[in-house]
Amino acid sequence: MENLSLYLLLLVAMGCGWGLALFTGRNRRRLRHSRDIFDDYFVGLNYLLNDEPDEAIDTFIKALELNSETVETHLALGALLRRRGKVDNAIKVHQALLARPGLESNFTDATRLQLAIDYISAGLLDRAERLLNEILNECSPMKWDALRHLIDIYQTEKEWESAISCSNQLLANSAYKRDPEIRVAAANFCCELADQLLVREQLNKAKEHARMSFTFDRKSIRASLLLARIEQLLGNYKAAIKELIRIRKNYPEFTGAILQQLELCYARMDASADFGKLLADFFAQSPDSNVLLALARHKKKFTDSAEALSFLREHIQQTPSLPAIVETLGLQLPSTDSEIQVNFSLLQQAVKQLQQRKAAYQCHHCGYESKTLYWLCPSCQKWDKIRPLPATRL
Ligand SMILES: [Zn+2]
Repeated sequence: MENLSLYLLLLVAMGCGWGLALFTGRNRRRLRHSRDIFDDYFVGLNYLLNDEPDEAIDTFIKALELNSETVETHLALGALLRRRGKVDNAIKVHQALLARPGLESNFTDATRLQLAIDYISAGLLDRAERLLNEILNECSPMKWDALRHLIDIYQTEKEWESAISCSNQLLANSAYKRDPEIRVAAANFCCELADQLLVREQLNKAKEHARMSFTFDRKSIRASLLLARIEQLLGNYKAAIKELIRIRKNYPEFTGAILQQLELCYARMDASADFGKLLADFFAQSPDSNVLLALARHKKKFTDSAEALSFLREHIQQTPSLPAIVETLGLQLPSTDSEIQVNFSLLQQAVKQLQQRKAAYQCHHCGYESKTLYWLCPSCQKWDKIRPLPATRL
């Protein structure tokens, strides 16, 4: 639809060009020029009708003389070429425009921006960065678009500090201040830096950056998980538990992702009984299959297998999941005779394999499924759109 309106725009532009040349044709040269445009107009139109848009665009570019009236049409043609994958040609069109002497400043910036987008599409990120920074340094009205593209470049190049700096500049504009995508991306840039610092064991600096994430997205799951991990490494188990419980409160679907860390924190505080109570509270609030499994394992470890089995039998129909079925089979194995034990074992293996093949996460934006949690969706390139799939999905 967008392409169709552009083609129509081109036809109108060509028609106007021809008309203008004809009516202002006071001499033979101009009249001949108007006839050339007229011919090219119909050649281009013929290409469009024959569904050959690339040839049509090439014809229009050749026919449209570059002057102040046709700059916008050339810009539209260049963008159209890029969208059709002809990035080299788009670069040529935009470079020719920029080289034109006396180009008005608003068109210069618009052309620079389009050329920068061409360079990004061609993977020439250094050149794109240079052009975008020129727009930024001249405080052009295009500066906000330049910042958006610079953020994309710094994200691709993993230059997180530059990406944060550009995000801050963009968020200073009231039009972007509440843009959730920019805020969530900036929070993740801070987490990327925190992750790097964590690997280098610079725990306090990592904590600072994880906290900085909350200035962009105060409910950032990734920042809370990171902070919990850092507090745990610093021996601040109560602070880690607080952070993990905050995740469950804001995003109950992430309960399965926090249970292991919670268990470890309580164990380090020598308070495993409190962990059992917490699990029971969680299960009373909402019968989650991850909590069911954790509670059964807790009962097995601190009470006995019989109680764990009876608990699972009581609740497994209500919240069925493959891990809970594997656990139930495992608990039943010792009480069966040897022949049944062999069959049970085979069944347990089959269920385990089935479970390993299943995706555990899904992107809420594009539907991409994965076994591991990605903060940036590898398919649609959106941040924080991947969520755990319910374990009850058999
Ligand atoms: Zn996605």
